[in-house]
Amino acid sequence: MIPAFDGRFDYLRMKDEICDAMRRVCESGQLILGPEVEAFEQEWANYVGTRHAVGVNSGTDAISIALRALGIGAGDKVLTVANTAVPTIAAIVAAGATPQFVDIEPNHLLMDLEQVEACLTPRTRCIISVDLYGYPVDINQLRELTRRRGIHLVADCAQAHGTRLDDRHAGSVADIGCFSFYPTKNLGAMGDAGACVTNDPELARRMRRIRCYGFEGNRIALMDGVCSRLDEMQAAILRVKLRYLDKFVQRRRDLAAIYSHWLEGTALSLPLESHGRRHAYHQYVIQTDGRDDLIAELERHKIGYGIHYPVPVHLMPAYECLGYHPGDLPVTERAAQRILSLPLHPGLTEEQVAYVARVVLHWHMAAATEWCSADCELIR
Ligand SMILES: *Cc1c(COP(=O)(O)O)cnc(C)c1O
Repeated sequence: MIPAFDGRFDYLRMKDEICDAMRRVCESGQLILGPEVEAFEQEWANYVGTRHAVGVNSGTDAISIALRALGIGAGDKVLTVANTAVPTIAAIVAAGATPQFVDIEPNHLLMDLEQVEACLTPRTRCIISVDLYGYPVDINQLRELTRRRGIHLVADCAQAHGTRLDDRHAGSVADIGCFSFYPTKNLGAMGDAGACVTNDPELARRMRRIRCYGFEGNRIALMDGVCSRLDEMQAAILRVKLRYLDKFVQRRRDLAAIYSHWLEGTALSLPLESHGRRHAYHQYVIQTDGRDDLIAELERHKIGYGIHYPVPVHLMPAYECLGYHPGDLPVTERAAQRILSLPLHPGLTEEQVAYVARVVLHWHMAAATEWCSADCELIR
């Protein structure tokens, strides 16, 4: 049995340190927004390379608080992609704005920057880029475009801890970068947690107010806010795990290289990495027209897998009201039929990954032979 994710791995690897951190919090008696949160915010800002980090309750809240801090709300449109986790879209709606979608490019399945300008309307006030699977969007090009057009740029980096573009960490180039520390992410808490990062002190101040009822110090609401605080326990645990993040991202990269080694040269589409763009391999996603068949084969071998994500958000019932239809985002829709995430997390061994790779390779070769003999039949 090879699981797609192992929720105990981090804990078992860092048991003593995690337990010490938890005990420290219990004994301090301070449970919400205290010294651990402050320390983690500083450490996270340092890691990402921004001046400020603001801890919040989830990645979804990070995005909606970022939008609110930028003054985006009712009547505004926010442009993003439809092949993302639902929370990207839920956060736009939570901020009171309306999501708008642009298609993706077929190589990395990231926002197609060539199509962005044509999608902008006078009401589009912000773009949210998504570093899906841990691979970075060309944020410099987006930054140039958003500056020129006078709109905001928010980066959804929920899958991009450890991702880098030209040696800059994901999230440090946008107006605000948003992270989730949901347990399955590259840096995961032991519960829900998230953070916003920015270089702008005024935005950081607004986000600090918004996350706690609009308060500043004296329990008087200075603006409309929400309740989305990072708690001390999660912050203390994240501080422990942050020390291992680079090591674990490197481990993901090493395991990903094993997949690529075995599967290169087949007709399967594999993740690509271009010069200067560092993949953090939150997921290792391949593409094939024979996905259902491959899934049956993986299940037969008790190998876990994922589909991230099976239905693009613009075609989900909750968002019908946005008025999109099948065919509106052809590259996104085609990818949703073909993508498959193979097991990839630091808890796997090289042997396990090589085993999965060989199962996929054998399936692929057998399928290819079958197609080939079907063709021969036709010729005969
Ligand atoms: C996980 C994720 C989020 C949301 O994070 P939560 O902490 O679950 O709210 C947002 N965007 C993307 C791309 C994600 O993968």
